[in-house]
Amino acid sequence: MLRMKDNGEAEESILPPDYHTHTFLCKHAEGAPVDYAFHGVRRRLPALAATDHCPMPGGYDPEHRMGIDFFPEYVRLVETAREVSPIPILFGIEVDYVPEYAEEVKDWVQQQGFDLVLGSVHFLDYWAFDDPAQRYLWESADVAGVWRRYFGMIRRMVEIGLCTVVAHLDLPKKFGRRPPPRLQKEIVLPVLDVIADRGLAIEINTSGLFHPVGEIYPSPEILCWAAERNIPVTFGSDAHTPERVGSAFDLAVRLARECGLRAMTIEPSRRS
Ligand SMILES: [Zn+2]
Ligand SMILES: [Zn+2]
Repeated sequence: MLRMKDNGEAEESILPPDYHTHTFLCKHAEGAPVDYAFHGVRRRLPALAATDHCPMPGGYDPEHRMGIDFFPEYVRLVETAREVSPIPILFGIEVDYVPEYAEEVKDWVQQQGFDLVLGSVHFLDYWAFDDPAQRYLWESADVAGVWRRYFGMIRRMVEIGLCTVVAHLDLPKKFGRRPPPRLQKEIVLPVLDVIADRGLAIEINTSGLFHPVGEIYPSPEILCWAAERNIPVTFGSDAHTPERVGSAFDLAVRLARECGLRAMTIEPSRRS
């Protein structure tokens, strides 16, 4: 993306790093970190993070994540990409908050030396509420009740210190199902207070633009409430194919600026 200087010359715009990308290891994405880096350079991104789905104990949801046996391969892929990439690559992970495994997963995550830990809730009990194959369950759902349960889980995830950045904060809107604004405020504000209190960041995730809701996660209203609490943001495409890296970041940057948000950046470790 180019913009014009005052003297009419073209100037490169500064896009933020893409801190949310996946790899083929999670079985529902394509490409390796080196492919994401290649496309990140093409899109003039300053850095990116590999944040594939975290292995879970007990074989939980094995079809959407690498098994623990493949974690060394993930480490190797990130290290290999770092050797050849002209832009820094953070060693990250996207961790699911599942109450019965949370402490075990937290201990394991803390031992791995990640640069970035995204925290997500994709499941309410065994309902993958954001999975298109299970979308039909929304038809009989109490929407406000689902939102309350979801944000209750986000709150507990933050309170136990599982992550450093909360990913796609209003994910339950994916298929366009959300409570009225006044109720959303009642549900979301206390959780933002806890996020601010714990010094965490939230993510501006552009993948919602490509989902039925057609809107960045989280909504402009939630982003403005976050700005009022001085919560920093990171930017993530949630790319599941390398071509999607950094997608719609110009929109995301404009939104962050309009809401008065400050961006958080992270220095990569010298792991490799
Ligand atoms: Zn996610
Ligand atoms: Zn993701």
